[in-house]
Amino acid sequence: MRVLMIAPPGAGKGTQGTLIAAHFGIPHIATGELLRDHVARRTGLGLAVQEYLDRGELVPDQVILDMVREAVVAAKAAGGGYVLDGIPRNIEQARALYLIAVDLGMTADVALHLDAGDAEVTRRLLARAALEHRSDDTADVIAQRLALYHQVTAPILGWYRDRGILVSVDAMRPVQQVSREILTALDQLLPLLEHAAERAGHRADLATLGEAFGAAGPAAGTPA
Ligand code: AMP
Repeated sequence: MRVLMIAPPGAGKGTQGTLIAAHFGIPHIATGELLRDHVARRTGLGLAVQEYLDRGELVPDQVILDMVREAVVAAKAAGGGYVLDGIPRNIEQARALYLIAVDLGMTADVALHLDAGDAEVTRRLLARAALEHRSDDTADVIAQRLALYHQVTAPILGWYRDRGILVSVDAMRPVQQVSREILTALDQLLPLLEHAAERAGHRADLATLGEAFGAAGPAAGTPA
């Protein structure tokens, strides 16, 4: 099972991503977590990205893509499944991630959208701030992260809808209800994915992806 998650901050990506990964026994690759770990360890990468995180801005695409490629290569070696949490955040990342996944034979089966309104996610993030003291859980930075989500992340949902792999879940409800709905939906999909893979391998999937990107414009003419 290969899942990528798209959601506003505070919608529960981290929590639900962890539960999905545990349920299917697959790695949970969370870009924000990987970056915060670098910051905490004061690695060169951590020092380079800290200001972006503190300001609620997106770190440069290439930094993220190099990090994610490495993690997806490891996920392939570990059995081929993944939960990607936090990428893609914009159209350029969606396109590049697609090309990386094609290259590795690791395209996503499901794009999971956690749908939650701004007021609710802001309330949750401010509550989390009191417990976790994340540098980007302040009112100003939360507003900036939400604005970015609406401007550059949410528009890419349409690409996954066109491919027929978008699963959208109402994430305004309690965690357990949301996770039950997600796991039920993914469990139902699993045999279909295995069946499709047996019959057609990855080819049919890649063709559909190529068409979706061609129709969407930005990746037209990009060799896949
Ligand atoms: P998150 O934990 O997903 O809320 O991410 C926390 C922060 O990490 C974001 O506000 C960005 O500064 C950075 N970040 C995480 N994922 C990405 C990404 N795919 N592209 C750029 N920046 C990212």
